[in-house]
Amino acid sequence: MAAATPVEDLAPTLQRLRQAWQQRRPDYTQRRDDLQRLRAAFHARLDDMAAAVSADFGHRSTHESLLADGMTVLAELDHMLANLRRWMKPQRRGVGWRLWPASAQVRHVPLGVVGVIGPWNYPVNISLVPLATAIAAGNHVYLKPSEYNPRTNQFLRELLTEVFPEDRVAMAVGGADVAAAFASLPFDHIMFTGSTAVGRKIMAAAAPNLTPVTLELGGKSPAVVGADAPMATTATRIATGKLFNGGQTCIAPDYVLVPESRRDEFVQALRNEVTSRYPDIEHSPDYTTIINEGNYRRLRGYLDDARARGVDVVPLVQLKDPQQAESRRLLPPTLVMQPGDDAKVMQEEIFGPILPIRTYRRFDEVIDYINAHDRPLALYHFGHDRDEIERLLGNTVAGGVCINETLLQYACSNLPFGGVGASGMGQYHGHDGFVTFSKAMPVLRQSRWTLSDRLKPPYGGFPAKLIKLLLR
Ligand code: NAD
Repeated sequence: MAAATPVEDLAPTLQRLRQAWQQRRPDYTQRRDDLQRLRAAFHARLDDMAAAVSADFGHRSTHESLLADGMTVLAELDHMLANLRRWMKPQRRGVGWRLWPASAQVRHVPLGVVGVIGPWNYPVNISLVPLATAIAAGNHVYLKPSEYNPRTNQFLRELLTEVFPEDRVAMAVGGADVAAAFASLPFDHIMFTGSTAVGRKIMAAAAPNLTPVTLELGGKSPAVVGADAPMATTATRIATGKLFNGGQTCIAPDYVLVPESRRDEFVQALRNEVTSRYPDIEHSPDYTTIINEGNYRRLRGYLDDARARGVDVVPLVQLKDPQQAESRRLLPPTLVMQPGDDAKVMQEEIFGPILPIRTYRRFDEVIDYINAHDRPLALYHFGHDRDEIERLLGNTVAGGVCINETLLQYACSNLPFGGVGASGMGQYHGHDGFVTFSKAMPVLRQSRWTLSDRLKPPYGGFPAKLIKLLLR
């Protein structure tokens, strides 16, 4: 396992990246070449990638790694490669008749060196997509991925060393001490993905340098089952969102709000779905275990807390050998029925295969509940009642909304991805990411001859008439 990067090496590395960037900013050809080489090298190692991620998780579904840490990265790279030339073109802007005959444009110029700090749950995707987007925007990048994924970090180091010279992309590894020192470096931008609590620390560490931050955080994302939701499809899609990667997904539906009259129907549909997906969950290659003991204990603690409050805790599959499952940190999909707001499972982001179910009678209760809590990263709705959907969209604020589906809002490169309020600030993916890692630099160009030369004292006479005209 690689030793942590010595804290005293961080600032000199940033200095090296910045000097190289100042000497030669990557032009279109360089950026395109970098992205193409990254794509090719990554594509050639997808199996190694999935094996490394799985080793860090204890067990991680290979197919889910190929989708979430493979396909999404390739899709973003393809989108960048197809659009980069257009994104880099200066955009003409009108000046209005008062500034005639000047002309105006906006150029998206790189910021310099971007620091990227990543989480453990999608350790490849959430390292490479921000990194590649910052490269597309013409920056150099210093990456600090999560310390919970040593094998994946080794994979990332080998990949990045093969593709990039060390003065264009560098990588640091280590825990909270290295991360804290990293966040206090004078970057030109910091892109952080992780918990809301650490997000606050990142912003505080960046403040003395006035380093702008993009914070991709977590929180509790509701899934609202509408009055007319087709139940089997709804259960299928909520099960995918909740159980993909063992529920360790920032945009997983955290809890479900379901009409009281449809609760039992929903629970049955979900049970059918889980049974057909994992007929023998303890030996299923498709079910991902919990990343580490700390997170496994945290999740078990939510269930213990609910039971202690007299709340019904309903596992959706029965384990044959619970002790063996525990030793592997395998937590079966489990429902928590109608927990109160004070239950831990309703207070903290779950980040595991536990699904609280709360019922409602009137749709207003749904809107009031969502608005009484932190703004969610994702908001899901199931059903086809347009009025109901519009009421939800018109009366709530969320990082992103997905209707009759889960997770795929993340996979659409044409949509900005990012939270709001406690779930984050700023956005990336596709063009929105390119803009985040650029300065939109306005350029106003005056022509040889212009009336503004006459707008000077003494203002009497012609300038006064001109001012009168401008005030029309
Ligand atoms: P975390 O906040 O514990 O750690 C994330 C990163 O921050 C790690 O690299 C860690 O080393 C670093 N870090 C820790 N202490 C630090 C400090 N004091 N200063 C600077 N950096 C520090 O998060 P995690 O447990 O790795 O990931 C889970 C969280 O991430 C969940 O809340 C989840 O919702 C969120 N998440 C959000 C998104 C998104 O796109 N919005 C995606 C994935 C995960």
